[in-house]
Amino acid sequence: MLSNLATRDVETLIHPYTNLAAFRQTGPLVLERGHGVWVYDTDGRPYLEGMAGLWCTALGYSNEELVEAAREQMSRLPFTHLFSGRSHDPAIELAETLKELAPIPVSKVFFTSSGSEANDTQVKLTWYLNNALGRPQKKKIIGRHKGYHGVTVASASLTGLTANHADWDLPLPGFLHAACPHHYRGAEAGETEEAYSARLATELEEMILREGPETVAAFIAEPVMGAGGAIVPPKGYFAAIEPVLARYDVRFIADEVICGFGRLGTWFGSEALGMKPHSLSFAKALTSAYMPLGGVTVDETLYQAMQDQSRKIGTFGHGTTYSGHPVASAVALKTIEIYRRDKIIEGAAEKAPHFQRRLSALEEHPLVGEAKGMGLIGGLEIVADKATKRQYDPKAGVAARCVAFAQEEGLIVRFLTGDRVAVCPPLVIRPDEIDTLFDRLGTALDRTQAWIREQGLT
Ligand code: PMP
Repeated sequence: MLSNLATRDVETLIHPYTNLAAFRQTGPLVLERGHGVWVYDTDGRPYLEGMAGLWCTALGYSNEELVEAAREQMSRLPFTHLFSGRSHDPAIELAETLKELAPIPVSKVFFTSSGSEANDTQVKLTWYLNNALGRPQKKKIIGRHKGYHGVTVASASLTGLTANHADWDLPLPGFLHAACPHHYRGAEAGETEEAYSARLATELEEMILREGPETVAAFIAEPVMGAGGAIVPPKGYFAAIEPVLARYDVRFIADEVICGFGRLGTWFGSEALGMKPHSLSFAKALTSAYMPLGGVTVDETLYQAMQDQSRKIGTFGHGTTYSGHPVASAVALKTIEIYRRDKIIEGAAEKAPHFQRRLSALEEHPLVGEAKGMGLIGGLEIVADKATKRQYDPKAGVAARCVAFAQEEGLIVRFLTGDRVAVCPPLVIRPDEIDTLFDRLGTALDRTQAWIREQGLT
């Protein structure tokens, strides 16, 4: 029986990323309040938020300084925009701060309200750049299978997941997908991580040559893949990929929407993985998700081209009402101040070995084929046979069942395609809470194993 609130929900809301048919029976988990890394449902039951919401609430659920920063800005100037040269001090200061923090040369910053909009902006700026440079045929963009870059029409085209393409008439023409760099699944028997990386780079080069380098404009990648499975690239992957991109003058865009702001124990994931992209997309932990805000960095070459294009065609015709919203910008500034002052990112780096030890210990579990991560993010894969890596029938929904058991145990984690389970807690999680997280995940796996036996799954 669904509660009153749950019934009202089922009758009124369309939920993102939800099996809308099954949802009519299960109903929602309605959360009411949060404290630290914990969230509480309407019955007062606590859950350890092992996903930081959607990979984003880095400072947890009760940061009063962020609340105060929003309140102060709201009472001073709740809104003004950045169109037609209008400006406000939080956006100016935030852009300056991001230029300082970015691990690559940045000329300017463009703000959006979400990660999808940030990546849509990347696509449009790439096209705009090549129009400005007088090479209008160089427009194709390469993402990767299982890459996740959002759901708006262009960002969903960058995304490499079936659910975002089938029935949506996507990807748009001109969007290609290179292989997913997942050693556990993609490597040949005995192939080292380095050899696998070299092969993926060769395959990427072959793709570019097949398409015609004069038609390929950009390549986008998350440092560690998030929604596609919490997948860490093999050793040497970006070092092998980058020279290929440089050889054919292909812009390299790092989607830092999850990895940016400390997730891998560095300010940006690009630093942890030694990437040297031309541009970064960011969102999520920029405000610890207390306000929606995203954006992209613009390098000097792109900025000069944008100026030239403006000279030719007039106004720079892109931007949304809430690009660089003053309240969101003020919250972002406070978030970054706290990251710096409280050494949150150094703290994440310190806690990472413990987190990763507890994660990789789950590989001992009979159901777990792979348990791997980096910093404070990790993914595990449930398999039917560890020796052959054979999986259960996807229709059985084994990882979804594991996540449901975890929820009953008071832990929120997320299942992803390919029977994977992701963990990505707030950066402020304490070591003892890391233990609670993995103890509960272990129990959920045990219960999943018992359930598999009961169901007679093989
Ligand atoms: N890029 C990455 C790497 C993401 O993880 C996400 C969201 N999970 C997005 C882009 C899209 O961001 P949003 O949901 O804010 O549009």
